[in-house]
Amino acid sequence: MSELLDIARLGHSILRQQAQVVKDVTESQIQVLIDNLIATAAAAKGVGIAAPQVSQSYRLFIIASRPSDRYPYAPTMQPTAMINPRILAASEAREKDWEGCLSVPGVRGLVPRSQEIEVEYGDRRGHLQKTILTDFVARIFQHELDHLNGILFIDRLESSEDRFTEKEYQTIIRKR
Ligand code: ZN
Repeated sequence: MSELLDIARLGHSILRQQAQVVKDVTESQIQVLIDNLIATAAAAKGVGIAAPQVSQSYRLFIIASRPSDRYPYAPTMQPTAMINPRILAASEAREKDWEGCLSVPGVRGLVPRSQEIEVEYGDRRGHLQKTILTDFVARIFQHELDHLNGILFIDRLESSEDRFTEKEYQTIIRKR
């Protein structure tokens, strides 16, 4: 049975730390953490969650894109654990689009991100994966990777005018 974990919120110092490299993903402690992160993201209707958000300072995150009232236009994919992830190359083309964060409730922002990235990560069985991500999933990867380096999406806003309440965001996306 997976356990739902408490999510650290804006102001908690764990969100501002550099997370540690995962040395052995096959350790049961890490495997349990992966399962609990997947369950916690699903329960909170998140499309991704990083280990530091549950106060575990490891370089590990989950991408679990699926449509919900938080992200009605999200593509559907299997929840995927990405361990010690890194970006190998990023497109110069950047797009501003909506982000939110389970650690920053009630706030939305239009965040510039690379539209396409080439990435490398270990999967939960310890195999190295290399792939190209685009658009919304590339955005989630960049957001979650920031969490491993102590950066939040609100730090990436180009202007205070790109910051919205959740309620205003909901009104705007329903018109799109
Ligand atoms: Zn986040």
